Amino acid sequence: MKTAIYAGSFDPLTNGHLDIIKRASKIFDKVIIVVSYNCNKQSFVPSEDRINLIKESVKDIKNAEIDAFDGLTVDYAKKRGAEVLLRGLRSSVDFDYEKEMAQINFTLNKGIETVFLISAPEYSFVSSSAVREILKNGGDISKFVPEAVNLYFKHGI
Ligand code: ADP
Repeated sequence: MKTAIYAGSFDPLTNGHLDIIKRASKIFDKVIIVVSYNCNKQSFVPSEDRINLIKESVKDIKNAEIDAFDGLTVDYAKKRGAEVLLRGLRSSVDFDYEKEMAQINFTLNKGIETVFLISAPEYSFVSSSAVREILKNGGDISKFVPEAVNLYFKHGI
């Protein structure tokens, strides 16, 4: 059984994240989406809500599971018996950061591989930070996020 861990802030979940989850669910037996609630980092959406929005958005993906974790992703992967850390790559900017993270994680645990999926062209410019910026300025985020996320910001959960 091949399990992939897709860890991130998902603050909030975007269509780019969802595309990576959908594609990965066809490659791996199980995809565990792990919301990292880093206490040092001020989040835009409370972690409880981030988790609920992901649950709602992936409810039709039968082999997707959601969890939350505060710590090293390799430790979480080991705890769950997963051998793959899944990451999405949008650009060379992502690459430099992701390469460093992958090499750090490889050094921490050589039994766990980082696997990258290149973003679909239509999502390569979509980021949680852009969505937050649009929201702060009263813009329309509907083209960038799943329906549940759009409704959350319109009406609350
Ligand atoms: P982090 O806080 O770890 O950067 P994010 O929630 O921003 O977490 O992203 C989690 C993962 O999803 C990262 O590997 C990131 O590169 C990837 N990702 C983010 N946006 C997209 C997108 N539009 N298309 C593909 N991958 C993406």
